[in-house]
Amino acid sequence: MARSWDAVVVGAGPGGSTAAYDLAAAGADVLLIDRASFPRDKPCGGGVLVSALKLLPYDLDPVTERTITSFRVRYKRTWEFEHRYHETLAIMTQRSRLDAYMAERAVDMGAEFRDASAVRSIDDATVTLANGDTHEAQAIMAADGANGVVRQALGLPRLRGAVALEGNAGREEQPAGARWDDAVGLELGSMPGGYGWVFPKGDHCNVGLGGFPAAGPTLRGELSRYASTESFDGGSLTQLRGHHLPLRDPDSALVRDRVAFVGDAAGLIDPLSGEGIGNAIRSGQLAAEAALELLAGEASDMSAYRDRVEEEIEPELRVARQLQALFHQCPWPYVQLLRHSDRFWTAFCRIVRGESTYTQFQSRLGPAKVFVDAAAAVAERRARRAAKWQASA
Ligand SMILES: Cc1cc2nc3c(=O)[nH]c(=O)nc-3n(C[C@H](O)[C@H](O)[C@H](O)COP(=O)(O)OP(=O)(O)OC[C@H]3O[C@@H](n4cnc5c(N)ncnc54)[C@H](O)[C@@H]3O)c2cc1C
Repeated sequence: MARSWDAVVVGAGPGGSTAAYDLAAAGADVLLIDRASFPRDKPCGGGVLVSALKLLPYDLDPVTERTITSFRVRYKRTWEFEHRYHETLAIMTQRSRLDAYMAERAVDMGAEFRDASAVRSIDDATVTLANGDTHEAQAIMAADGANGVVRQALGLPRLRGAVALEGNAGREEQPAGARWDDAVGLELGSMPGGYGWVFPKGDHCNVGLGGFPAAGPTLRGELSRYASTESFDGGSLTQLRGHHLPLRDPDSALVRDRVAFVGDAAGLIDPLSGEGIGNAIRSGQLAAEAALELLAGEASDMSAYRDRVEEEIEPELRVARQLQALFHQCPWPYVQLLRHSDRFWTAFCRIVRGESTYTQFQSRLGPAKVFVDAAAAVAERRARRAAKWQASA
């Protein structure tokens, strides 16, 4: 079967469903395709920051399981402190619920959604499904996530990244269950290139660890130990799942003619926090804008999308890369600042709530920015050397 559309969106995660929503809302004829049967789960903490919530034209109340106002930070599994904020910082959901809900919103706007439909190959105007059906489109949004096929099909290199492993612990039967209500837990300083987390859900807590790719083989044992230090039974975590977190290099391709890479398919995860839902949503919106210009005959390809990501998202990723490199070289000052400085804690909460940005934070450093830049450059070089060494070992 062959059919033509204004736009085809491959992948119904937050990035793809947002692009499909905006395109359909503007009157475009849109097909949203996913290889999984919905509702489907995905390895993810399911934490949605307020900065991401604010991007959406609808609220996520129907799929919200917890509202977070507090961070409980632990350093090297020893001492910990808790900070509370006077406003919501994030909501906790489960991806099976969130992604089905977001795909439904796109359908409400008029998008056609086909799940259980894997894309097998793609060229610049035609998407071919595993069952042989073909769909032609004037614009294609590749929102097929960390292990998608579109980058590969267009001959683009795989994105480097981090790795993470997570599992679930029942709340009621665990001694730690009651500890997690409106707080998330962060374990800092013990995972090279990453951190551990406890994210509370309605009837369970999601416990996870992420870090440099070389940490992959150790993650299982480390996760069990970490969960135990949080008073969960580390040996009985259920639904253990590992996954790759793709991270963009500054020159990674965002567009190929009429194809735009969105969210994880473009490596837009924040390298400092591992948070990717916000940039998946925002890049889906920017891709839809560029596609609408293409459909209106105001552009001949999707390069406007690349320009907008470079202007709006990449500067944030650049500062996040610097902060990540510095943090992993020397986590102690960050943790001390977070613990003792109200200004730093407030700045962090304002970024989490989308009231400020990394670039604004960096510009407030004044003359100290020169030293921070220099230290970050050294730390980034060291991290790149370590990653190369680990990859070749
Ligand atoms: C362990 C872990 C924990 C995380 N925790 C958080 C968190 O708490 N908060 C946060 O903000 N971010 C978190 N992230 C990152 C976040 O999960 C991603 O950044 C986010 O899901 C990206 O959304 P997306 O729409 O780009 O892609 P995805 O959500 O990955 O969606 C891609 C979709 O494409 C579909 N697809 C793939 N291949 C094909 C194909 N060939 N044909 C058709 N469909 C296809 C998939 O089935 C999938 O539904 C976490 C990541 C990991 C690995």
